[in-house]
Formats: sequence, C-alpha cells, structure tokens
Amino acid sequence: MSHMKHNINRRKFLGLFGGGCCSILMPSCATVPITERKQLSLIPEATINRQAAAAYENFRSKTKLITTGSQLKEIKEIGKKMENAVSAFFLNKGEKDPTANFGWDYILVDNDKVVNAWCMPGGKIAVYTGLLKVTKNTDALSIVMGHEIAHAVARHSVERASQAMTINIGTAVADIFTGGAVSQARNQVGNTTGMDIYRIGIMNPFGRKQETEADYLGLIFSSLSGYDIRESVKLWERMAERNKGKEPPVFLSTHPSSTKRIENLENWITEVILKYPPIST
Ligand SMILES: [Zn+2]
Repeated sequence: MSHMKHNINRRKFLGLFGGGCCSILMPSCATVPITERKQLSLIPEATINRQAAAAYENFRSKTKLITTGSQLKEIKEIGKKMENAVSAFFLNKGEKDPTANFGWDYILVDNDKVVNAWCMPGGKIAVYTGLLKVTKNTDALSIVMGHEIAHAVARHSVERASQAMTINIGTAVADIFTGGAVSQARNQVGNTTGMDIYRIGIMNPFGRKQETEADYLGLIFSSLSGYDIRESVKLWERMAERNKGKEPPVFLSTHPSSTKRIENLENWITEVILKYPPIST
C-alpha cells in the first residue's frame, strides 16, 4: 500500500485518459463529461442510439427474461437512482445533461452461466442472473451498473464506430488520430506473438482506455447515487477469484487486469467519496 497522496486532478486524467484525436485535423471531436478526454466523433449520437434501440428490441424479443420479482426490482431501483443522480449532477453544474435524450430501460436476462451486464447507447441496460451471483449485494451491483452506464454517458460506442470508420479509410489515417498508436501496437504485438493485431481486434488499445474511464466514471455515478463504492474493490476481488487461471493476458483483453483495476479503484475511492457525495434529486 502506498502512502503517497493521490490527487485526482485534470492533468492526471489527461495523463491517464488523454491522447486520441483533436490534433491538427480535428474533423469532428467531442469531450467526455467529467474526465474531459477528447474523443473522435464522426457519427451523430442520435444515429447510434437509434440503431441500438432497434438491436435492443430484437434482443429482448429473442431472449429468456425475468420480468417480475425482487432482483429485477432492485436493478430498476438502482437504475432510477443513477438516472436521477447523473442528470442532477450536470444540471447543478450548469452543464448539458449527456443523458437528456436517453430512453432508459432495464432487463434481467435469465442465464446463470453469463457473468455480465451491458448498457447500449441511449441507456438500454441488461443484467444477467449470472452476474448477481458475483455481485451478491446492492452496492456491488451499483458498481457494475455505474460502469455500464458510464460507457453510454461517455459515448464510447460513437467513439468506437468513428474509429472503425477511420480504419476503413486506412491505418495511415487512423494513425493521424491516434498519434501512431495503431502502427505501434500492431508492430509490438506482432513482434512478440506472431499475431496480426487486426485478427485479435484492432480496437483493443482504445477499448482498454475506455474501460478504465468507465471504471472511474462508474464510481462517481455510484457515489452520487448514494452507494458505498468501497465495495468495488471487494467486487473485483470476488470476480478475480472466480476467474482464477482463466484471466487472459492484459494486452489481449479489453478490460484492465483485475490487479490493475483494483489498484486504480483504491487510488480513486477516497477522493471520489469526498468530491462526489450523494446528490439530492
Ligand atoms: Zn466495460
């Protein structure tokens, strides 16, 4: 345990989350709320949200769902608190509410084998029953939901789709936006593993930055909603225990390794609790 004081400030975030677009060309750029990271945004958010809503309806109609009971009720209660807290936070700051156009919805998928949850752009959220066996309590579930909601609030899907567009144009163009990260990552991974990064998913380097950002913003949303975010460390410890021996090497995973993730959370928790206390809505 380090006894260094960890100050969360803008510069540190830009160090951790920074990079990306907005250099010389700046074709279309957005800023992630709170972290202020610049992101590529070539596609209108409304377009992505419309596509997501259609995909969500399709998923709903084809999936075995649990539509009553205390587990679904709890998911909806956490969600409602978070919706209100996020909106109130931005309104109090006099900023535009990034969720103003969301059409929030929650489903509980009846599948004990899948330890997962997701939030589609525009606020369509699914939790799998398998996840509830690991979260075990309301605070931990709020951490996962906060993380998923953060992906939507930070418009990570718009960003990924925009990056995919530039990669279709060509790596050279993509590299203009990423400061050479694509070529660098491709060569590094290629040289050590003999694999072509295109085959394991060229988006992974961006994906991991987004995952770390979602962890951070998720803690904030959970804290604003009145949950005990210290539970996040215990949650990821339980998750790591469950995945023992199965954890992929960090460079092949879009999620940070659990060690790195827990280290980040420990650095953030105290200051998030102080800076983002429960908000009255
Ligand atoms: Zn994530």
